[in-house]
Amino acid sequence: MKPLSAKIAGVTESATIAISNKAKAMQRQGIDVISMSIGEPDFATPQHITDACIDALKRGETHYAPSSGIPELLNAVSEKITKENRFPCTPQQVIVACGAKDAIYEAMEAVLNPGDETIILTPAWVSYEPCVQIAGGKTVKHAVNQKSFQLDDSLLERVNKKTKMIVVNSPSNPSGAVLDKKSLQLVADLCEDHDIYAMSDEIYEKMVYGKEHISLASLGDMAQRTITINGFSKAYAMTGWRLGYAVAPKEIIAEMSKVQQHSISQVTTFAMYGGVAALKGDQSCVEEMRKEFDRRRKYVIGELMKMGYETAPADGAFYAFVKVNGDDVDVASRWLDKGHVAATPGAAFDAPGWIRLSYATSMDRLKEAMDRIKRVG
Ligand code: PMP
Repeated sequence: MKPLSAKIAGVTESATIAISNKAKAMQRQGIDVISMSIGEPDFATPQHITDACIDALKRGETHYAPSSGIPELLNAVSEKITKENRFPCTPQQVIVACGAKDAIYEAMEAVLNPGDETIILTPAWVSYEPCVQIAGGKTVKHAVNQKSFQLDDSLLERVNKKTKMIVVNSPSNPSGAVLDKKSLQLVADLCEDHDIYAMSDEIYEKMVYGKEHISLASLGDMAQRTITINGFSKAYAMTGWRLGYAVAPKEIIAEMSKVQQHSISQVTTFAMYGGVAALKGDQSCVEEMRKEFDRRRKYVIGELMKMGYETAPADGAFYAFVKVNGDDVDVASRWLDKGHVAATPGAAFDAPGWIRLSYATSMDRLKEAMDRIKRVG
């Protein structure tokens, strides 16, 4: 038979899959594996959001909706962005997609031509590179400073005539680092000086602990060249709803909208009403979850430090990023095989020598996990 797509063959499977498959297989054998490899809040979606979706279903909101999203949600996003993220945004500058991931993919398709280079800051979330590759682009990786996890002038060395886009993710998955104004300004200057687009993935914006989240698009004229990615999965514990969005200049949104019209069509109509309730409703649920993550963060980082581990500045998201002695895949395998704790090796994020531990699990389980890691070393 003729070979399948060379483009997709060149995309590697997520390196997180091997270890999580193994953890699942162990769980099926009845072994009590503590999962610290998950990237989702362990909380239930707040009730008022679920109720809004159920009401929409009961009202019969079960048909096609406008491809880019229901007007109520486009309005709610544009109001939120203008007020909270501090850059102007009209509803025409918003597209609602099947999760932030889908918005990222559509943006790459809309912006990149074959061979266009996209700078990805490492450690990086697993899907940026495959999305660039599927869109036909080329990735250029740049490691952030491994102590501060901030940016410096060395970033300029990655720029050339083919550079089309840079991806920024603050707070970061996997490092938990929050980029400060200086780092973001450096990105902004670089984009403006060299006519580069920026993608700013701000999905963890609500999970910051004592640091301020700054939207890249709020700096100077950056709103004219930035695609801001956000969604509901993390802030409102809505991972399974598949609800996210992008905000960008309307010319970019129009191109993303074509990708959406001819692929997913739209996000599930009644789910979008849940999104409206999330943005328009009481925000105390977000703060309650943030506080609980903060409590766990302090505990986990404290325990890791007592064990002598160095960690990345855990200022945001819900991950502890730990520097380990030796090969990260070997250490993660040991923690899983001997300690029955599932964690993600840094190799998955282009950061060998590090391990990502998600603290989006109950305090009791975290205590048990820390005891086990202490035991197996
Ligand atoms: N960006 C980052 C940095 C993430 O960690 C994730 C989820 N793991 C996403 C995007 C995708 O989120 P969603 O569920 O909205 O597709």
